[in-house]
Amino acid sequence: MEDLKKMEIRLEQIKEDGLTLEFEKSVDAFPILAEMVANGECEFSAPLRTALRVFRIDDLVEIDGEIETLVHLPCSRCLQQFETPLKSSFALTYMQQTADGVEDTEPQEVELSAEDVDIVYFQGEKINLKDAIQEQVVMEFPLRPFCKSDCKGLCPKCGTDLNQNPCDCEQRPSPGEFAVLKNLKLEK
Ligand SMILES: [Zn+2]
Ligand SMILES: [Zn+2]
Repeated sequence: MEDLKKMEIRLEQIKEDGLTLEFEKSVDAFPILAEMVANGECEFSAPLRTALRVFRIDDLVEIDGEIETLVHLPCSRCLQQFETPLKSSFALTYMQQTADGVEDTEPQEVELSAEDVDIVYFQGEKINLKDAIQEQVVMEFPLRPFCKSDCKGLCPKCGTDLNQNPCDCEQRPSPGEFAVLKNLKLEK
């Protein structure tokens, strides 16, 4: 399917009962993700698997999708690389823009606002999915990834990975933390 090389849906492909699409793409096809890899932020150990259901209602195109892949990330506590699945479920609404531009178009009586629904505008007879897929994957990246929920991290004093060995440093809260607690009590 030549269109899927470009990750595009042509409107004429969307029949009355919708369109189902499933495809796999290497991360190289997505510039932002490829850049994250080039920067050493992560590695992908699987292609992006995308499954989409597409429906058309007048000039609106609804896309329900799921994306799955596997990434290697450094744990933000112990810095060890670990592998984790990334999964995204999303619903996007695309709205066709007429060629004369938005300004000439009277606002239509549509019972949805851009705040309730993600609306992506497109022009012409096809929708490019690449940016949307890429954006969904980026949003799924954890801000503070943990290799496991109880990762003990590195000792702040000697740097030992506490998951592997305990160290001899005293594991007491630093004086700074006590000071914060005292202040909280005084305010009451
Ligand atoms: Zn960890
Ligand atoms: Zn230590």
